Amino acid sequence: MSQMQYNKKGWKHLTSSFAAIFLASLPALLFAQGTRLELPKNKYQVEDDLELGRKAAAQAEREFPLLRDGEIESYVNQVGQRIVDAIPAAFQHPQFRYTFKVVNAGEINAFALPGGPMFVNRGMIEAARTEGEMAGVMGHEISHVALRHATAQATEAQKFQIGSILGQIAGGVIGGGLGDIIGMGSQIGFGAGALRYSRKYESQADILGTQLIAKIGYDPRDLANMFRTIERQGSRGGPEWLSSHPNPGKRYERIEQEARLLGVDSSRSGDSAAFRRIQQRLRNMPSAPARKPGQGQRQPSSGEGAYSGRAELPSSTYRQMQTNRSQLSVPDNWREFRGDTSTAYVPEGAYGQQGITHGVLISAERATNSDLRRATEQHVESLLQGNPYLRQQSSLQGTRLAGQRALATTLAGRSPITGRTERVTLLTTFVGSDLFCFTAISPEEENQSYQSVFQRILSSLRFLR
Ligand SMILES: [Zn+2]
Repeated sequence: MSQMQYNKKGWKHLTSSFAAIFLASLPALLFAQGTRLELPKNKYQVEDDLELGRKAAAQAEREFPLLRDGEIESYVNQVGQRIVDAIPAAFQHPQFRYTFKVVNAGEINAFALPGGPMFVNRGMIEAARTEGEMAGVMGHEISHVALRHATAQATEAQKFQIGSILGQIAGGVIGGGLGDIIGMGSQIGFGAGALRYSRKYESQADILGTQLIAKIGYDPRDLANMFRTIERQGSRGGPEWLSSHPNPGKRYERIEQEARLLGVDSSRSGDSAAFRRIQQRLRNMPSAPARKPGQGQRQPSSGEGAYSGRAELPSSTYRQMQTNRSQLSVPDNWREFRGDTSTAYVPEGAYGQQGITHGVLISAERATNSDLRRATEQHVESLLQGNPYLRQQSSLQGTRLAGQRALATTLAGRSPITGRTERVTLLTTFVGSDLFCFTAISPEEENQSYQSVFQRILSSLRFLR
């Protein structure tokens, strides 16, 4: 609350605000260790993380141009090892090997693979304002590894019988194609985009990342600042990092709260002479090579997915289904796949590692904007990023969805899965503070027969309050 608000509301409120602030600072005294985290449930062995990470790292090294510069590499490695040394005993896995490589790419991005291999784009180092900002993102990434989030997320996904998810992760962590339901909030063909962590895991990585960098002397607010820098780059059309690390909500507030819990004051400086030397060294180098088309995009391999070319025809009998936000009726031969924020209903032969070719996708995610049009535009934007083959065909049109004011648009493009033109219809509305999205997908040439199916599903849709 700003000083101005205090003044306007007067003396009485000033006191109560003061009391609230005082109370809020108490936990910092009581729990100077910060929030206690637990390892998420995981049915995989530590060795599985290692195996996945090894495969994905080998693939990353084939696909991404590494920056081979002893001085820069050893600097990034030093910062990384200091963070690793700060990992609490409960999250140390002796078999893990944390390694740090620098990718000669200008995008602000970094990723860490299960078991420890980490790749930091030079763009991340160049965009950071201080060493603390760079360390913050590395701390966040290292936290995902230490908490074994990739296999924990696979453990959760397996509850929904998605099949050989381990293979999917091995292929999908980098560069695209994690064909499971986890990441499909805004992706139809799970095409481009890395493993998308759930909000729950994002929040955990923010908290542990804050604890790690605070322990070795940085101000955790640097982590929050770096996220803001990444977001700003995102608005220019390249939020690659954010698409795999979605904002779990109140991200900055939570990091700042954790910093207070840890008793970190904001007088720490994350700057270092070494960092500035490395930035200067990068500036004196030729700029990063432009990404070749298709680079970082995984080539589909044989034997994955269950695409039949032609999906099983929709049954004429429907069954009622329920998601956490809605109920609706779908053909009773369609399968249900549930994710964190979305649910898909898909005929046999129409889903696989790269996404779905026929069916509907229901999702509800915290709206990014309180204006429906703006929130929908942002959703369409991320949809296009996740599915770069699509183009928006029409502007947003007003319509109704379950009796509510809604917007609709269509997208189309040549599906990389079927090689045929795919048509996507998107309807959006607000349910509480969530943006609810109904997405219908079918090949253009089957559009006519699917339109009536989609219509029937739409007319059965009701929101649960
Ligand atoms: Zn993350």
